[in-house]
Amino acid sequence: MTSWRNWGGNVVASPVQVRHATSAEAVADAVRAAARAGLGVRVAGSGHSFTPLVATDGMLLHVDGLSGVVGVDRERNRVRVLAGTPLHVLNPALQRLGLALPNLGDIDRQTISGAIATGTHGTGTRRQGIAAAVTGLTLVLADGSTLECSTEREQEVLAAAAVGLGALGVVTEVELACVPAYRLHAKECSEALSDLLPRVQTEADTHDHLDLHWFPHTDRVLVKRNDVVGPRQGPPPLAPWRARLDDDLLANRVFEVINRGAAALPASVPVVNRATARVLGAREFADDSWKVFCSSRKVRFVESEYAVPRHAVEAVLAELRAWFDRTRAPVPFPVEVRFIGADDVWLSTAYERENAYVAVHQYHRMDPRPLFEAFEAIVAEHAGRPHWGKVHTLRADRLRELYPRFDDFRAVRDRLDPGRRFTNAHVRHLLGD
Ligand SMILES: Cc1cc2nc3c(=O)[nH]c(=O)nc-3n(C[C@H](O)[C@H](O)[C@H](O)COP(=O)(O)OP(=O)(O)OC[C@H]3O[C@@H](n4cnc5c(N)ncnc54)[C@H](O)[C@@H]3O)c2cc1C
Repeated sequence: MTSWRNWGGNVVASPVQVRHATSAEAVADAVRAAARAGLGVRVAGSGHSFTPLVATDGMLLHVDGLSGVVGVDRERNRVRVLAGTPLHVLNPALQRLGLALPNLGDIDRQTISGAIATGTHGTGTRRQGIAAAVTGLTLVLADGSTLECSTEREQEVLAAAAVGLGALGVVTEVELACVPAYRLHAKECSEALSDLLPRVQTEADTHDHLDLHWFPHTDRVLVKRNDVVGPRQGPPPLAPWRARLDDDLLANRVFEVINRGAAALPASVPVVNRATARVLGAREFADDSWKVFCSSRKVRFVESEYAVPRHAVEAVLAELRAWFDRTRAPVPFPVEVRFIGADDVWLSTAYERENAYVAVHQYHRMDPRPLFEAFEAIVAEHAGRPHWGKVHTLRADRLRELYPRFDDFRAVRDRLDPGRRFTNAHVRHLLGD
């Protein structure tokens, strides 16, 4: 028995079998072997989810050996990629083809199949989450057979499996609708939250991608505005030394020291946050989209993130701010706010709803529970839908109320995995038996 741990360190599992598949046939063999041994199967991507989706005491199946672009449809700007392809491999590969994903989150360590399975998203009211770009999937089902779904065939399976929580089968290939490669002009600066909030909806619609990082116990927010520019427009990319200084030294090393201090002396957090917020610098540059979206995150944390209807975001932030004022809770990490347009993927947090996303984080050496409990109580009043990969406590009865196609998803699950080969305790909580 080996043990498995997620990136955040808050989920540990002891699978009785661990397999690394390097082909679709090896995936099918593994699933059949699990069936013979009566083991449940959970697939691991890069382990960047904070919820126990991957945890299993049965078979843990890694798909990291399934990596690379295997097909390009030049006319439709579509690519087929192996499921375990990490985004940091996919993005430069797409660039070489003159293509890009329409939107990305803020890191690139996830596999494409792991990213879509939980509804990973970036920001932009005219953009959608990564799973909305999925136009086809190849799945290995519980009996080891293969099912192809796409926008042309088995459409209901596609609508369910694009954000599938690993509960329908093992994805071996993903087809993605890309866009021509594009560049972004990034403008980052610190502003007063109280000035920004009254115009945050307009700001979100004015810019292609708006991303806010508000430091608890302060009125300061780091505002990132990214807008699409043409090939020769905008300022130059960040000099390599500046990128290293910002991302490696300040965002990671110095921030780690700040967080260790916070863990040792929690009462200092409000003062430290005010000092951190005061030194937030401004910067402006343009670069390839994926280089602007993604940065490196080395300071470990755990996170909870909820999608709320976009016009609820001001109320959610006001209530969160009142809670911080009341409790002086030691939270050194900023609260992140993003926006996303609606899509039609059944279990997407943005299913038929324009959302604001509010994410709270806690340093991994500090207790996240008071923050997460208070946050969950606040967003519950605003029809909050939890990010499937980030800490939450919702169960099937509440999730059914939040997702109009919840029972349709369950019907597809009944058809594809009647014996619940791909269910663990957490998935059972989420979807029911
Ligand atoms: C530092 C950090 C930054 C993050 N930033 C963002 C962000 O900007 N936006 C955002 O929305 N989220 C973000 N996340 C969350 C992250 O994108 C999701 O949790 C994502 O699902 C992780 O992908 P993974 O490859 O690590 O998958 P894992 O966490 O390993 O797995 C996730 C799910 O996918 C399933 N799965 C994986 N591969 C397959 C397959 N081939 N077939 C079937 N099921 C499969 C697993 O069983 C599991 O259910 C961040 C997380 C971290 C730790």
